[in-house]
Amino acid sequence: MTVEREAPATRAARGGEARVKPENAVTQPIVCAATYTFTGRQEISDHFEGRIEREEYGRYGNPTVRTAEKKIAALDSAEDAVVFGSGMAAVTTALLALLKSGQHVILTNDCYRRTRQLVSAFLSRLGIESTLVPPGDLAALDAAIAPGKTRLVVTESPTNPYLRVADIPAYAAAVKRHRGVKLLVDSTFATPVNQRPLELGADLVLHSCTKYLGGHNDLLAGSLSGRRDLISGLRDLRGVLGTVLDPHSAYLLIRGLKTLDLRVRRQNASALKVASWLEGHADVARVFYPGLPSHPDHAVAAEQMEGFGGVVSFIVKGGLERGSRLVDAVRLPLIAPSLGGVESLIEQPALMSFYELTTEERRAIGIEEGLVRLSVGIEDPEDLIADLEQAFANS
Ligand SMILES: *Cc1c(COP(=O)(O)O)cnc(C)c1O
Repeated sequence: MTVEREAPATRAARGGEARVKPENAVTQPIVCAATYTFTGRQEISDHFEGRIEREEYGRYGNPTVRTAEKKIAALDSAEDAVVFGSGMAAVTTALLALLKSGQHVILTNDCYRRTRQLVSAFLSRLGIESTLVPPGDLAALDAAIAPGKTRLVVTESPTNPYLRVADIPAYAAAVKRHRGVKLLVDSTFATPVNQRPLELGADLVLHSCTKYLGGHNDLLAGSLSGRRDLISGLRDLRGVLGTVLDPHSAYLLIRGLKTLDLRVRRQNASALKVASWLEGHADVARVFYPGLPSHPDHAVAAEQMEGFGGVVSFIVKGGLERGSRLVDAVRLPLIAPSLGGVESLIEQPALMSFYELTTEERRAIGIEEGLVRLSVGIEDPEDLIADLEQAFANS
């Protein structure tokens, strides 16, 4: 499966790009074309018979989008990758491509909320059944697999907001005991710099490129990487569903990808510093960061990840009120949903992703009222710590 042997920094800066580009430009140009011309009948038949590789119509492909795909494939050690207009467009296209009526999908119960919603509220209407299993419970996963019926297992690693890390080789082994079942890993929080699920036995890896891969909070995109035949089927369905990425966003994604390794290593180091500092603070009840020995999945993370990521979650003593006062008192991190960009972002999950739920409903799904999620950006970590210190003192 590994198609590039260079280190992630080289893959990020140079991977997937032609040495000589149109007009001898160093950068891949933005090709703004909805459709592509043919010289005549011969070229049309050469195209449809697969004798030449070229574009046809914007919903089926675009050279700028294709370059973004090749870079992500290189980073993920994949044969191929396909990008979409958002992370959720990637999720939707994958699930509709891999599942049909009468089949069954298994998800970990802490995976991305909109993914669970797609399965429970929409795929159920198409006659696709689903089971939620607790993260890390391989016995529950094994018991949930219905031979002949289960087609897909979807897990995420690390997860939101508690940063649980799935033992991907163990999941892959459990899935491979059954014929025809595939493992899809949403690796958005890890990035290919920290974790490459295809090298660990997954069949497909998904990224919300909106987060670290784009990295600048300025675009929405999603991707899927894997074996060429699998990706080709997903690309065909993208052409039917129309879940495409436009070339301008693809250009921003390529530009963001070039510094992925630099950004992620900085964010790994800063998040570890911030998490260790928070763990020593008297007003913090608990810190969740896979790089800390106190995290339940620290051993798994240390085994399969090269870094632990830029997101740190922590529970502030004093519940919802104190949590909000703290978030309102910080000056550097911006109050916003999302993660993975150069700007540090902070939010209280009870007041952002789970705003419409009651305290009891939040408790039932494990969302603590005093929980705060911090996506560490590329600012100086000492400045971030100083800011948190003043925010604790003034809240
Ligand atoms: C944000 C996110 C998504 C959805 O991606 P969008 O680009 O917002 O559509 C899916 N999975 C995870 C883990 C995410 O964080």
